[in-house]
Amino acid sequence: MPKLLGQMMQMPLSISSLIRHAARHAGDVEVVSRRVEGDVHRSNYAELERRARQLAQALSRLGCEAGDRVGTLAWNGHRHLELFYGVAGSERVCHTVNPRLHAEQIAWIINDAQDRVLCFDLTFLPLVEKIAPQLGSVGHFVLMTDRAHMPVTSAWPGLLCYDDLLAAESGDWAWPEFDENTASNICYTSGTTGHPKGVIYSHRSAVLHALAQVAPDVMCLGARDVVLAVSPMFHVNAWGVPYAAPMVGAKLVLPGAQLDGASVYELMESERVTFSAGVPTVWLGLMTHMKAQGLQFSTLRRTLIGGAACPPAMLRTLEDDFGLEVVHGWGMTETSPLGTAGQLKAKHVGLDAASRQSVKHKQGRVLFGVDIAILDAADRPLPWDGCTPGNLVVRGPWVIDRYFGRDDSPHVDVAGEPWFPTGDVATIDADGYMQITDRTKDVIKSGGEWISSIDLENIAMAHPAVHEAAAIACHHPKWDERPLLVVVRKPQAQLSAAELLGFYEGRVAKWQIPDDVVFVDELPHTATGKLLKLKLRETYRDHRLPDVRT
Ligand code: ADP
Repeated sequence: MPKLLGQMMQMPLSISSLIRHAARHAGDVEVVSRRVEGDVHRSNYAELERRARQLAQALSRLGCEAGDRVGTLAWNGHRHLELFYGVAGSERVCHTVNPRLHAEQIAWIINDAQDRVLCFDLTFLPLVEKIAPQLGSVGHFVLMTDRAHMPVTSAWPGLLCYDDLLAAESGDWAWPEFDENTASNICYTSGTTGHPKGVIYSHRSAVLHALAQVAPDVMCLGARDVVLAVSPMFHVNAWGVPYAAPMVGAKLVLPGAQLDGASVYELMESERVTFSAGVPTVWLGLMTHMKAQGLQFSTLRRTLIGGAACPPAMLRTLEDDFGLEVVHGWGMTETSPLGTAGQLKAKHVGLDAASRQSVKHKQGRVLFGVDIAILDAADRPLPWDGCTPGNLVVRGPWVIDRYFGRDDSPHVDVAGEPWFPTGDVATIDADGYMQITDRTKDVIKSGGEWISSIDLENIAMAHPAVHEAAAIACHHPKWDERPLLVVVRKPQAQLSAAELLGFYEGRVAKWQIPDDVVFVDELPHTATGKLLKLKLRETYRDHRLPDVRT
């Protein structure tokens, strides 16, 4: 019998199809941006799609060709969103650069990606002025503002005004059709070890990821939602939210540069936000503000927390005190980012609150399309028993195949199949719930046994006097490494090291209890709002633990 092929239409998956769909079916749905110019800008999907077309025309006028990279240094706002669509939709590649990195690192990343055009918010004008001479590939610098906010100095005569570029175009231009495997975006990993590495997404991977993330067990998004994209667009494309919201016709709110608790709360309330997703640090700021002011959410119902471990105490507070439904998710730049989400199964529904939350503390089950495994040191699969930790590997259509500009594959081979090694250590239980116990580089190795820094931090965070805590490895002459806690107390809280260490009794094995506590005013965070443990390890490398003090 000859092979019978399916007889469905061949339509490549494309990022432009998302905004075309939103403009046609949800054209009047609002896109609201808090801008760095100081105002709140209101637009909708129809207008956004028109401006994205004008942008695509403007890029052609600047000589930008298919495959050219267009860099952005920008907060979450409507112009950045127009760039997401106008750049990728016209077969160019949108390169979101993390503006919180060091200037040298930013210049290195822009040169590595060979950006032809660089678009940036007013906030970053001094930064770009400083690094511009080092940016050999950039032919055009575009300030993402209107004529009224352009600097009146003539020091930079070639500086272009974003709104002027768009105003010069008719918008009479049709979105082209091309191969769905064409590059759409490039994001760089944080580069905590060595230089950052470029991860190139495709139209196909972005659309498949968006289809997976709107599902009920993940973000559960629909046309009645108002979504606040609080994770930055330069951090793995705001976790895909700028694609997911137009896909379902949800109202989209973009918070600009103000990510402190008070500003985020005010925007959530004034725009009637129903869903948001972000790293634990953002939620910590929000909860602290709300507790201090005695506030509640009037419209927010659900949140997805990820990027770093969500402490159980935070999950409890958000669910029990603030009435939210929390889903804990895991992912990385190399996985677009979503790999797992911790929504409950039917069999968990009848459990009591504490048991339900103990399932939800885990980073969760894979999204359809992704697969995970845990491996031993010889790359052999380990059992899914919920207690054996192993090196977490992942595969799927939105998981990286290789890094930009590198021919070597980062993969490990498991039974002839390539898997991406995440650098995380995890357990997986019989129901498929994955739990991160640590990052390989953060694990504390005491006398050959591993202690999970995340477990120790979660316990400290459950103490009512602790605002934030980090557990790091400290050198020990006998045990090689022992845990040290670095802690920020809540304002006005009284707490001694002995009291906090006493709190660990009965919560972990005795030998896992940290050896010492250092109280600090503030903990360092990475450019994406995660605890910067590398810096802490450097700072406390020579800290003398009590039993080695003489
Ligand atoms: P970086 O943190 O280096 O800037 P990514 O944003 O890609 O880069 O971070 C991915 C890493 O973040 C994962 O490999 C994992 O270590 C950590 N991570 C992400 N989500 C979670 C989570 N829910 N719990 C614990 N760790 C997480």
